[in-house]
Amino acid sequence: MLGSLKPQPADKILALMGEFRADPRKDKIDLGVGVYRNAEGVTPIMRAVKAAEKLLWESETTKTYTGLAGDPAFNAAMADLVLGEAAGAERIASVATPGGTGACRQAFELIRMAAPAATVWVSDPTWPNHLSMLRHLGVPMRPYRYFDADSRAVDFAAMMADLAQVRAGDVVLLHGCCHNPTGANLTLPEWQAVAELMERTGAIPMIDIAYQGFGDGLEEDAAGLRLLAARLPEMLIAASCSKNFGIYRERTGALIALCDPAPREVVQGTLAHLNRQNFSFPPDHGARLVTIILGDPALRADWQAELEEVRLGMLALRRQLAEALQEAAGSDRFGFIAQHRGMFSRLGATPEQVERLKREHGIYLVGDSRLNIAGLNARTVPILARAVVAVGI
Ligand code: PLP
Repeated sequence: MLGSLKPQPADKILALMGEFRADPRKDKIDLGVGVYRNAEGVTPIMRAVKAAEKLLWESETTKTYTGLAGDPAFNAAMADLVLGEAAGAERIASVATPGGTGACRQAFELIRMAAPAATVWVSDPTWPNHLSMLRHLGVPMRPYRYFDADSRAVDFAAMMADLAQVRAGDVVLLHGCCHNPTGANLTLPEWQAVAELMERTGAIPMIDIAYQGFGDGLEEDAAGLRLLAARLPEMLIAASCSKNFGIYRERTGALIALCDPAPREVVQGTLAHLNRQNFSFPPDHGARLVTIILGDPALRADWQAELEEVRLGMLALRRQLAEALQEAAGSDRFGFIAQHRGMFSRLGATPEQVERLKREHGIYLVGDSRLNIAGLNARTVPILARAVVAVGI
């Protein structure tokens, strides 16, 4: 049986991580991996997370199973964090999941169960795992244009032209903020226009929000999603705590389904059923840390303050890089870097140029020229700027 298996395509980003590790050059720079790092190159444990772990260690009396949906207090805290006042509890069904990936996976399975003929529309480009999970599950998908290669901004006219073809019941997958891999995001009036299109066509939005608080602020980053939630009857949200709480390996996330109050219980039961089929009880440690932090005013304030430091640090790096590139290139064609938000920006380089950055300069980017801003610091910004110009980007 097992001998019949064929090798799976390697995950490009994980393969790049391996290549970087094997590179003996001392001055190599990793801008590939999608993990936040501070100026010292460390992915720190946030202060509030450490404090919550201490509280949990002191107060936890059992490790017996939680419910299939996870801890109800976590689900309520996440709905509040993501949705604010945009939807009442009577419309919300939700489960804890293993990270944002688990939330996306469960959402795709839910779509397949509820509407097997529905097409999931995905931005071109999108996070590659969206595509591979949809393909793995056999869910029909279609791309919609999103990124303008010249301006490196959202090509909103093209996006809306493509989405005009959605049918009632199709699902449109949008990134809530900090689009991965491009860094280019919708403005609020554009979210408004998307809401109108969804109302007109009867399509259902699915929002993947993996970087809330990394873009323009915790509330600002959820504003588009909340606008849709307040206007449309149904919506799916895959939320990740990996980045904004810095708890990547704890596998913490939530799938939230908004629906009419009447079917809410059945939707909730179906989400729990899907958890049961795939892994039974969701991971709990990270979820409990998040619940403690969000429920304790002092810890919450400290978490928000540290998250804000992280966000502002990345914004400062964006500005420094845009300026250094302006100086090195003698033009402002890289101004888009300061406009993008989140950890990533797509530089718009060819695969050959990305390869030259790696080979000649020891600078590692993902092949599509996505760079992780958080991999930079004040010392490496000018090095990158000179190398980008040297390879002709
Ligand atoms: N969605 C997007 C767009 C992402 O970039 C990521 C992480 O890279 C995720 C979801 C899932 O993150 P995790 O499963 O680590 O919570």
